Amino acid sequence: MLKQAWLIGLLALLLVGCQSNTTKVAQDGNLPKPAYRAAVAGWSVENRPIMVRVYGSGDDVVLLMAGIHGNEAAGVPILERLGKELMVNPKLLVGRTVVLMPEVNPDGVKANIRRNVNGIDLNRNFPADNFDASKGHGEEPLSQPESRAILAQIEKYKPNRIITYHQPLKCIDYDGEGAQALAEAMGEHTDLPVKRLGGRPGSLGSYFGIDHNIPCITFELPKNATGQSSEDLWNQYGLATLASIVYPKAIPSEFTETAQ
Ligand SMILES: [Zn+2]
Repeated sequence: MLKQAWLIGLLALLLVGCQSNTTKVAQDGNLPKPAYRAAVAGWSVENRPIMVRVYGSGDDVVLLMAGIHGNEAAGVPILERLGKELMVNPKLLVGRTVVLMPEVNPDGVKANIRRNVNGIDLNRNFPADNFDASKGHGEEPLSQPESRAILAQIEKYKPNRIITYHQPLKCIDYDGEGAQALAEAMGEHTDLPVKRLGGRPGSLGSYFGIDHNIPCITFELPKNATGQSSEDLWNQYGLATLASIVYPKAIPSEFTETAQ
């Protein structure tokens, strides 16, 4: 029954995605109106869909995800808001593909718990060299459907950089060659300091950043970001998010001029 309801929701979502595929000319130039493709990356333990939305088709690929720790969900509305910005600003997608996974641990977000409902910390469940088997990390890497869904999308889209949103450590953490410069570019647009925390066992940063040299940013929002409105969050962290997308270029001036 639950799965049927999700399927209906999914069909509706796909319909919206398809409708937005019509190519139109934007008012502010000759760029095609942005469109996105929505797909299900996988299913959570409780059969919730793990959605992925792909904007643009350029060679420079950035993947952003939130909600891997379900009780650190303030990044979810930031990525939803980012999706809206991408739809009205075709300039952001020139030469670029943006892959959004706004809620990769939907059961954990729903239950407001860090781990998935099997009690596994998904950000310790990747097959990194430093994977540390345990009850809370998983007896084997990729033992959970959520971590497998994330890995499959990263292998599919081969992002040039990966941004994940966490709480509550109030810093911009980085892993992988070149990731520090990316962290600093983001840090120019927020009060959060750039700080290297070091790769945690079996984490996304350890596996993709340290082992595979894909620049990985762990964007640690403050605890009180939970409960802030989407607008407030975007006002505080939107520019840093946009900086990660246009990197190494500067954010188009119309964004920085109108920012608070
Ligand atoms: Zn976290």
